[in-house]
Amino acid sequence: MTSATLTIDLDAIAANWQALDAQTSCETAAVVKANAYGLGADRVAQRLARAGARRFFVALAEEGLSLRKALGEGPEICVFSGHMAGDTDMIRQAQLVPMLNSVEQMQRHQASLRTHPYGIQLDSGMNRLGMEPAEWAGLREAAMAGPLRMVMSHLACADEPDHAMNPHQLRMFDQMTQGLSVPRSLSATGGILLGADYHFDLTRPGIGLYGGQPFAAARQVATIEVPVIQIRDVVPGESVGYGNAWVARTPARIATIAAGYADGILRAMGPKAYVRAGATRCKVVGRISMDLIGVDVTNCKTIPDSVELLGPHQSVDALAEAAGTIGYEILTSLGARYARRYLET
Ligand SMILES: *Cc1c(COP(=O)(O)O)cnc(C)c1O
Repeated sequence: MTSATLTIDLDAIAANWQALDAQTSCETAAVVKANAYGLGADRVAQRLARAGARRFFVALAEEGLSLRKALGEGPEICVFSGHMAGDTDMIRQAQLVPMLNSVEQMQRHQASLRTHPYGIQLDSGMNRLGMEPAEWAGLREAAMAGPLRMVMSHLACADEPDHAMNPHQLRMFDQMTQGLSVPRSLSATGGILLGADYHFDLTRPGIGLYGGQPFAAARQVATIEVPVIQIRDVVPGESVGYGNAWVARTPARIATIAAGYADGILRAMGPKAYVRAGATRCKVVGRISMDLIGVDVTNCKTIPDSVELLGPHQSVDALAEAAGTIGYEILTSLGARYARRYLET
């Protein structure tokens, strides 16, 4: 087998959910949008349901429909994009709870699914999704009169604890939701770490479940092992890969491994990335190709059969930093070509 292996530790995801849950005294939901950040929404959500999660969030109704099949009846599945034209049948059929984010969505929902539960998404300053204060003021009473399940908003700068935007949005959210008798939710992973003022009745962690920053105490979740296809020895002056981007200065042993940018190993990380062969740290050399990467294994005592690209020695955030991006983008880019292996007790 030459495809790289992506191992996903479902028990670690459950442990991360429990650890985030333990930081608050309110309910903890789980965000499994974008196929659980690329790691497999069905398996992840089933494991989290077993750990006690009762509420899940997805971005799109289509994701909710597919998740309902995996979870069966019972857990609540909420949709961040709300009730879009064309979503009505999916919302009804899969018992999804849309987070309505505009007057137009509210009208659509009332016209088509009047008695079907919904949430309201408020814009507390991010200017991305949700009703603005004036819009909400005009609609609040009508919204409260129906089967309203929750009111939520989202923080723009929660990964920067000292950012003035955090208390500003907290104040806005508090003002907009004062006197409501339904659960309120403001925080994702970053907000949980900001402290109890930000927790309200329900938190919505995503990245922290999957081992990414800003949840520094997260357990490692994803491991990528890549088989070595070929080994060659080069002499000073010889180059490796496209564009002759790397040239040997001393005699070197180069392993060609079976993964590339088609697997989400972004070209941009090439000059800064490393892999592990056992205890030996090996530098990526030359440009990352679509399906192949060169690594310098000169210092390995034995020729490795495979190398570790992501795992205990190199976190998603370390890889992200090498590529000038964030862990979220690394995880959601990993692609469909891996042999996926799930660890679960
Ligand atoms: C993605 C998302 C989350 C989860 O955010 P993390 O930073 O991954 O914890 C929560 N709420 C909303 C509205 C989101 O879009």
